[in-house]
Amino acid sequence: MEYEAVIGMEVHVELNTASKAFCGCSTQFHAPPNTNVCPICLGMPGVLPVMNKKAVEFSVAAGLALNCTISRWSKMDRKNYFYPDLAKNYQISQYDLPLCHDGWIEVPVNDTTKRIGITRAHLEEDTARNVHTLAGNDSGVDFNRSGVPLLEIVTEPDITSADEAFAYLTALKRVLQYIEVSDCNMEEGSLRAEANVSIRPKGAPDFGVKTEVKNVASFSGVHKAIEYEIARQRRILDEGGTVTQETRGWDADRGVTVSQRSKESAHDYRYFPEPDLVPLAVDEDWENTIRKSLPELPLARWARFQEQYALSPYDAEVLTASRAMADYFEATVQAGAKPKPAANWIMGDLQALLTKTGLPIETCKVASAELAAMIRMIDDGTISGKIAKDVLLEMFDSGQGAKTIVEARGLVQISDESELVEIVAAVVADNPGPAEDFRNGKQKAMGFLVGQVMKATKGKANPKMVNEILLKALNK
Ligand SMILES: [Zn+2]
Repeated sequence: MEYEAVIGMEVHVELNTASKAFCGCSTQFHAPPNTNVCPICLGMPGVLPVMNKKAVEFSVAAGLALNCTISRWSKMDRKNYFYPDLAKNYQISQYDLPLCHDGWIEVPVNDTTKRIGITRAHLEEDTARNVHTLAGNDSGVDFNRSGVPLLEIVTEPDITSADEAFAYLTALKRVLQYIEVSDCNMEEGSLRAEANVSIRPKGAPDFGVKTEVKNVASFSGVHKAIEYEIARQRRILDEGGTVTQETRGWDADRGVTVSQRSKESAHDYRYFPEPDLVPLAVDEDWENTIRKSLPELPLARWARFQEQYALSPYDAEVLTASRAMADYFEATVQAGAKPKPAANWIMGDLQALLTKTGLPIETCKVASAELAAMIRMIDDGTISGKIAKDVLLEMFDSGQGAKTIVEARGLVQISDESELVEIVAAVVADNPGPAEDFRNGKQKAMGFLVGQVMKATKGKANPKMVNEILLKALNK
């Protein structure tokens, strides 16, 4: 039997607000346990929540970036359940009237793009965090996270493979980071992804029974968990069994999903309107103001980079991976570097240095204007590309300008013909064997002789001129 997978994703992102959703406590991540707390986010009886306007703005911005309709009128609801990290015994969330609904996102899949529907994006609060000691005999609850605003983004069941799920998460994260509503840092838990996975005989009209896969710590983990789950369900159906609707946790160490609990239905939560908060009204003016504040989104920028700078789809993809990277590239070009060499230097040597030091491009000491100055010095023959690698390294370490370094270290390229003729003549005289080999047709000997000239000039000889002069000298 041939099957097809039907996958929907649920993603929770912590919004980048300075304070929590319903109180003034800080959302800072690295604070000592239970220091960013107050009676409201500790869930004391009788306290009153107040809506954080910025959280609503960020949610609307995300909704617009995901092509959603923004509700003119929505409300908060109580989702009732008991858990140690939820002191109120209910979570303030949204049920039947989400703030954003019926949107879509374009996702690059195999050299084309696929449109994935966004069912809804709603605002809610994060829970506290249960912390278990390594020894295993103590557990505590850290309420710093309690009340941090979350946006839950739910897709239509439009995803058909683990690859597409991965591409979706990558595209979604990129959009949310571009519009700066969340840092989407998975290690700090500010982006959490769950997948609803089912399979059905290829072409069948009805959905199969789905399982919800949770506790996945990385995008590659999501990919593995979905592949595992598809294979597991196929095995069950092939053996004539039935898939149980349930929540399954991903065990990354063993590479398997494990049954956690049977899936509850919405009515189990006894949702009802939150009586302590007024309804949310987002009028057209407010929506338009937020829409105007949105930057160019990643997919549009990716297309523009190919068009405007004649970059390959791959180069444009790498350079638009983050807004900071794309800004840096454009600033370098605006400062006078040609686009292709600018792309090559940023994606090559500069990226290697960033990766090695673990620094983000935002804190890079090489100013974009200085990188452009360095590239122009290669273009006009002042320095060779080889020397430029050393210059860039020093720029990266010291933050000094390209010209300053080149002048201070005497790295200006030797382009004086008479000087180079002399050096070449000396190298040919010192290496009669290789010179003879070249004359006898061994092309490889040329490379050796060029290398000797470079060695004699400490890499400063203009390579194009060395080749010309050397050829002339050898063919005499
Ligand atoms: Zn608080």
